[in-house]
Amino acid sequence: MKSHARVVVIGGGVVGVSTLYHLVKKGWSDVVLIERKELTSGSTWHAAGLLPLFNMSYSVGQIHKYSVKLYESLEAETGQHVGLRQCSNIRLARTKDRWDEYMYYAGVAETIGVNVKILTPAQVKEIWPLCETDDLLGAIQHVDDGYVQPADLTQALAKGARAGGAEIYRYTAVTGIEQKSGGEWVVSTDKGDITCEHVVSATGNFARRTGEMVGLDVPVIPVEHQYIVTEPHPAIVERQKAGLPEMGVLRESDSSWYMREENGGLLLGPYEVGAPCCYVDGPSDDSEYELFQEDLERLEPHIETAIARVPAFGEVGVKQVYNGAIAYTPDGSPIIGPAWELKNFWLNEGHSFGVTAAGGAGWQLAEWIVEGEPSIDMMGVDPRRFGPYASRGYLKQKNEEAYANVFTTHFPDEERPAARPLKRAPCYDRMKALGAVFGSVYGWERPNWFAPEGYCLTEEDLNRPDVLLNENHSPALDDGRIVEKYSFRRSNYFEHVGKECRNVHENVGLLDMSAFAKCTIKGPGAESWLESILANKIPKKIGRVGLCHLLTKYGGVKSEFTVYKTGPQSYYLVSAGAYERHDHDILQKLLPADGSVRFTPVTTAYGVLVLAGPKSRDVLAKLTDADLSNKAFPWLTGKRISIGHAMADALRVNFVGELGWEFHHPIEMQNTIFDLLMEAGAEFGIKPFGIRAMDSMRLEKSYRLIPRELSIEYSALESGLDRFVRLDKEDFLGKAGLEAWKERGFRWQFVTMEVHDVTDADARGNEAIYRGGELVGRATSGGYGWRLGKSLALAMVHPDLAEVGTKLEIKILGKMHRATVIPESPFDPENEALRA
Ligand SMILES: Cc1cc2nc3c(=O)[nH]c(=O)nc-3n(C[C@H](O)[C@H](O)[C@H](O)COP(=O)(O)OP(=O)(O)OC[C@H]3O[C@@H](n4cnc5c(N)ncnc54)[C@H](O)[C@@H]3O)c2cc1C
Repeated sequence: MKSHARVVVIGGGVVGVSTLYHLVKKGWSDVVLIERKELTSGSTWHAAGLLPLFNMSYSVGQIHKYSVKLYESLEAETGQHVGLRQCSNIRLARTKDRWDEYMYYAGVAETIGVNVKILTPAQVKEIWPLCETDDLLGAIQHVDDGYVQPADLTQALAKGARAGGAEIYRYTAVTGIEQKSGGEWVVSTDKGDITCEHVVSATGNFARRTGEMVGLDVPVIPVEHQYIVTEPHPAIVERQKAGLPEMGVLRESDSSWYMREENGGLLLGPYEVGAPCCYVDGPSDDSEYELFQEDLERLEPHIETAIARVPAFGEVGVKQVYNGAIAYTPDGSPIIGPAWELKNFWLNEGHSFGVTAAGGAGWQLAEWIVEGEPSIDMMGVDPRRFGPYASRGYLKQKNEEAYANVFTTHFPDEERPAARPLKRAPCYDRMKALGAVFGSVYGWERPNWFAPEGYCLTEEDLNRPDVLLNENHSPALDDGRIVEKYSFRRSNYFEHVGKECRNVHENVGLLDMSAFAKCTIKGPGAESWLESILANKIPKKIGRVGLCHLLTKYGGVKSEFTVYKTGPQSYYLVSAGAYERHDHDILQKLLPADGSVRFTPVTTAYGVLVLAGPKSRDVLAKLTDADLSNKAFPWLTGKRISIGHAMADALRVNFVGELGWEFHHPIEMQNTIFDLLMEAGAEFGIKPFGIRAMDSMRLEKSYRLIPRELSIEYSALESGLDRFVRLDKEDFLGKAGLEAWKERGFRWQFVTMEVHDVTDADARGNEAIYRGGELVGRATSGGYGWRLGKSLALAMVHPDLAEVGTKLEIKILGKMHRATVIPESPFDPENEALRA
């Protein structure tokens, strides 16, 4: 065994081996993989090998697409059979909501280049004659989809990696991992130590145990997953004898199962409600090719629906039931990327569709390690999208929920109930009493919108058979009321959000943004360090506020910070609540080694209340002795002020485009401030508003969000950040890359569009945009702008189509709409309200 290597990959499942393979492909041959038992002896060997391309996530969709492409060529490259059968995959739809989901997904697929076909029930019958199709609305088909033999695939990847110089040590267990003061890692095994530059953890069901070795609480706990294989069925055997094509993979989403042919019989894999977490403390030391006792009772309801759909399934005996562990995270997507707080420690864990994802996950992680950046937007799978709140108890509830929801309709406004409430701002109960309907982000409860007192959905609303499997509405409130129906279209909350927007625009509103990520940066080196890492000029005067972006080395956008200069050597940075760990980890890793800059996270020390609307000055004036005049307190400045007997740093900025202030206050004073504002605001019509109203108003201001309009896939200039990117600055992270990108020419340009003839379904982001039938871009956000009375979309299109007035088309839920490029910030383009 080598004593030194550039990278040590731990784990010889399909994911670890793919990472090794891709490191070699990137030109790093001094890499090794350590597997405690035999390759594939974790979860990989018993996987059903399906390669579902269907995925609602832009990140995961691209990863899956790459995998299938790779698996197509791997056999020719390595000479090792991988058993790839591209027999296609058909997903059935029985309800209108499911159909909407497929049509929404078709937009994601089209923009990332995945081939999706729409089938009629008759076409389904033609391909799958054993399937009953009477009650179907239709289906979507991925023709390139199918399955692979997971163990053969892993061996092929291993062969390819070895051919490029990688070494694989089997029957070698990693027992400890330690980082030395010089930054190098020492990986201890039962056969000796290896010193290396980078460590990759790809240990499947052992992820938490591996994490413990380096002090990481990895947000992965597996869930039991079963599939059944039947004896051969004469009809299938006949088909095979007649040389007919394999019928392909059938997915009955509304009954939560997949089915395919297997050795003349059928294989049925359900995602059951009630499947328990397993290996909570990790598998045992000698776990190898391990399966659990089957639980037929849990499978029964799915067997019944499978027989109803494919009667042949009930006509043959069960040959074998597999019940194995499948790794899960709270949102069901894997964690691929750098570990937080540790340098050069990488995670490729939490894979629930690991055979499908392995190719793409290995590709992007290898790029990240070798080049320092991935090339596709990885926010949807970044390990830092979860925070320390994702502890064992949370994971157990959330991961079981994620598993049970694999096949449920993924509504864009769905808020899943498990493990909630977790983090509550002090004003939570006050907001709740005012009718707040909460959503959850990064563990925080935030009001999404406000339901009128006593508001309730009608029986008629709730009993419409739009979905079969799951309840397409929010969980009941404490008093039993159900107040929200999920939909891909305008739902029951639409008008209420409109009222909130109107009140902010005409009077004044109050929003809780306590979930914002916050930190302070202090020290003699603070200014020059911030100047060197952020693309905008750092505020020079105490009290100034600036919007500053952190770019990738190529010039894409990684993070966005509001930077407020609070003292001669001190700054307060605010960024998206959902990305606290991500943003803070990046900052911390960039800190200079000389100690001249101090970083302190203060997210939970400060709450944030946003007062916005034309009457916000009148409200605040009643509570403070600070001079609120434009001259003394202009837009984009901040000041510590008194609010009654409490205090806050008031920042004259907001995300809705109205006169207003964000109050960043000691969190323990939140309710005092809340009560003072509500009381003082009563005469001005103050009302709370939620995230959905904020989102509608930010669209009207063309304000960009990460990872939508701002992404590592788009250069900061393509995203239209020209005002915030100071190429005239001496240097900043990504400057050279951005200049080189500019030189090569841009492919995309950010635009704001009005969408015409919308009656009930606005764009949401991810819709395909066309010009004369040709795909020319994608929407990144969309919704209804209440102040403008227009349906809007923010989008990235080819630069020659970005001119105001350009006529385009956008496909929303399968229906083509006309769209026109309109000027940026269609609401109040001169920012008069903000400056009022
Ligand atoms: C019943 C079932 C059916 C499935 N069907 C599909 C499917 O159709 N399609 C699909 O895409 N996915 C499917 N999956 C999921 C798929 O099996 C997993 O996502 C995938 O195998 C994960 O691969 P991995 O490399 O991450 O983990 P694993 O295959 O579990 O590999 C991790 C390896 O790390 C090793 N290891 C751990 N700790 C150490 C250590 N300290 N030192 C050395 N080595 C260590 C382990 O021994 C293990 O071999 C299915 C899963 C189940 C349970």
